[in-house]
Amino acid sequence: MTTERPLRVAVIGAGPAGTYASDILSKSGLDVSIDIIERLPAPFGLVRYGVAPDHPRIKQIIVALANVLSRGDIRLLANVNIGTDLTLEDLRAHYDAVIFATGAFKDSDLNIPGIDLDGSYGAADFVSWFDGHPDVPREWPLEAKEIAILGVGNVALDVARVLAKHPQDIKVTEIPDNVYEGLASSPVTDVHVFGRRGPAQVKFSPLELREWATCRTSTSWCTPRPTTSSTRLPWRSPRTTSSRSRSSRR
Ligand SMILES: Cc1cc2nc3c(=O)[nH]c(=O)nc-3n(C[C@H](O)[C@H](O)[C@H](O)COP(=O)(O)OP(=O)(O)OC[C@H]3O[C@@H](n4cnc5c(N)ncnc54)[C@H](O)[C@@H]3O)c2cc1C
Repeated sequence: MTTERPLRVAVIGAGPAGTYASDILSKSGLDVSIDIIERLPAPFGLVRYGVAPDHPRIKQIIVALANVLSRGDIRLLANVNIGTDLTLEDLRAHYDAVIFATGAFKDSDLNIPGIDLDGSYGAADFVSWFDGHPDVPREWPLEAKEIAILGVGNVALDVARVLAKHPQDIKVTEIPDNVYEGLASSPVTDVHVFGRRGPAQVKFSPLELREWATCRTSTSWCTPRPTTSSTRLPWRSPRTTSSRSRSSRR
């Protein structure tokens, strides 16, 4: 491209993808001016508003992202929602290129009977609540004693662990006060995690599994055996002696 001015690029979304894309572009040797446009008041996407507060090691990536944004060669325009505040046409009028890095902040549909019944929630809403996302209400109805979690990836594990942990073990993190109070008064005693495939296909690491040793609830892990589709495997978490648990029932 032969222009007198720098190439103007708009990057939509200040999560890891948008920030790293901007970083790479700014170091590419091109004469480039980069604006990151973010709909929330604060950057870092799901690392800030998704990853559970008791995982500071994962959240530590924020330090690297903040270094990129604070360098001064990339401009962050926060609180601007592309689609309502500005349109793609607006961006095309002012930028030479637009990169969309808007992530996946909504739950995908789960087409199973009863999914819309009371007491059934998507993980995206729950993690938004426990991470203090500005778009979701501050209240969460933590009334259930037994909770089923569908899925065995990072998100499922974060949700299950936050529900099952002794609240005082999370208090030392940056967890919002109202979330700590909600979890502390939760009556939960049993958390059941369901996977559609076998233990070999779970997506979390052994390290994450070990964290269950310090949880307050009874936890069962339900996956099909390789030869059938509905057998429950007798996986149990290492238990504590919390008076809130009900090990004698099993
Ligand atoms: C509970 C949970 C646990 C996780 N645990 C791990 C883990 O242990 N290890 C790991 O590697 N990953 C983990 N992840 C995944 C990790 O957080 C994501 O992979 C990563 O954040 C994706 O980065 P991204 O930039 O693509 O999207 P996002 O982080 O979602 O960032 C997208 C950004 O775009 C903005 N945006 C969206 N729409 C618009 C718009 N219209 N206008 C302007 N801005 C917009 C959003 O506000 C957001 O800031 C976890 C995620 C969750 C939810």
